[in-house]
Formats: sequence, structure tokens, C-alpha cells
Amino acid sequence: MGRAQVFVKDARSILTRTGGFLSGFTHSLQPYAGCQFSCLYCYVREMTIQRTNPHRLPWSHWIAPKRNAPELLDAAARRGMLDQARIFCSSATDPYTPLERKLGLTRGCLEVMARRPPEALVVQTRSPLVLRDAALLRRIPRVVVSVTVTTDDESVRRAFEPDSPSTARRLETLGGLREAGVRTQAAVAPLLPGDPERLARALDPVADRVVLDDFFRGDGAGGRRSGAALARLRDLGFANHAEPGYADRAAAVFDDVLGPDRVVHSADGFGDLDWLTA
Ligand code: SF4
Repeated sequence: MGRAQVFVKDARSILTRTGGFLSGFTHSLQPYAGCQFSCLYCYVREMTIQRTNPHRLPWSHWIAPKRNAPELLDAAARRGMLDQARIFCSSATDPYTPLERKLGLTRGCLEVMARRPPEALVVQTRSPLVLRDAALLRRIPRVVVSVTVTTDDESVRRAFEPDSPSTARRLETLGGLREAGVRTQAAVAPLLPGDPERLARALDPVADRVVLDDFFRGDGAGGRRSGAALARLRDLGFANHAEPGYADRAAAVFDDVLGPDRVVHSADGFGDLDWLTA
């Protein structure tokens, strides 16, 4: 996590029009380019931003904070661009990448949105650092913090997300947010091997809603982009888990434990913002 080289930059724009997997949103917002976490399954590894990164460094070895992110967002807010925006923060980084503790760029963007709220905001992270901003998040209407929780098995978590906070800390984060009055979502995306029932029971008291995804639907290319992660699953002896349909079996368990109304799926689930805006 500490190995990433830092390249501070001024961005030209901060809101990016979305489509594809994020078609339920109008814009994504990335206060950082690059990411200090190094999830093996991260699809950004295959995206243009990584393939053409000017630093010629492997994914998670570089990070570029956009130091003018709050100012750019404020300018967009003054032009009225946020009023009907459905924002996903973030799709190609973690807005609470460890550098955020020092730089506060995500926090600066949230301050803008507390003054001029978007139609809906999803903050997607795996970091307990988001708790620092709980009071600020409470000031934003129609917001949910979505915390990635992929398995209840710490050895599996370490194999696929070696530089990320533990599952226990993520569950505590969800619980802390909920206690602070912030709406919560658990993004079980992608579902990794483990005990689905134990995971669902752990999420029950801390997540208002769960989005379940797998390496096939979430990949957007039938599993082709998830090749390295699927190969790793097979190497670790989880061949069954590397087949389409495993998430369907887990989904039935999640439905039983949490109730089907609290469990949504893949792109449609992520993009279903009616529960925020209704
Ligand atoms: S936290 Fe998100 S953006 Fe960062 S490496 Fe993991 S999956 Fe990729």
C-alpha cells in the first residue's frame, strides 16, 4: 500500500459521463486517478487509464491526486450541473485510498455536495477512513455509503485484496456509519469463496441493502476480463467458484437470510437508486 508513487496533478474536469455498467448513474467522480489498494480482480487494471498511464507503472504502484477536485466540483455545482446528477464516487479508484487521510480531496468534494446536493450519490469504498466523514455525509440528502465486502474468509480476502482493510474492519465501518445515521450498502462484488450464510448474517445488522455480483455478470464481458482472478480461484482450489452460476446459489442464501427486498444484483442493483430518491 505504501509503495505507490504519488503524482499530484490538476485535472481538467471532475465529472465523467457514465454508461455501460454504471448506466443507472449520470456521472462518476474520481478525486484520484490510480489506487493504493491492489485488488487482484480490479477491472481498472485492464482499462485505458492503466494501460496508457504516463508513469508506466503497474496498477496500484502509482496514484495521482487531483488537487483541484473540490474546486472543479464547486464550479460544476455553481453551473447547476449537480442538481440532476446521479453520481458514483468512484468507479476507477477508491475515494478513501490511504492518501485521502492527508489530502482530504474526497472530503472537499463532499463539502461541495453538502452545500449543493446531487439527485443521488453513492460513495463506494472499502476503507474505514470514510467514518471520519460520517457527520458530513449526514448533511447530504440521498446518499448511501457502499462498502465492499467480498468474503467472510480472511485467507481468501488476503489472497485477492492483499493491501485492503480486513473484512472485520469493513463490517465495523458499516456498523459505525449506520450508528451515525448514514444509509449503508454492502457491495458483495465480486462474491469470493467463503460461507455465504455466515457473510449474509454478518451483513444483516449493518447493511441496509446488499448488492451481489460475480465475475461473470460484473465483468461485462462474460468473464473474459476477469481471467486472472478466475485463474487464481482455480489455483487456490475454488474451481466451482470460477463457474457461472455460483452467485445464483449464494443469492438464494442471501435472500433467505436478509429477505429478497434487501438483496439486489449486479449493474441493475448498483444503478437502482429509487430507494434513495423516492
Ligand atoms: S479498491 Fe477498487 S479501484 Fe482500488 S484496486 Fe480495489 S477494486 Fe480497484
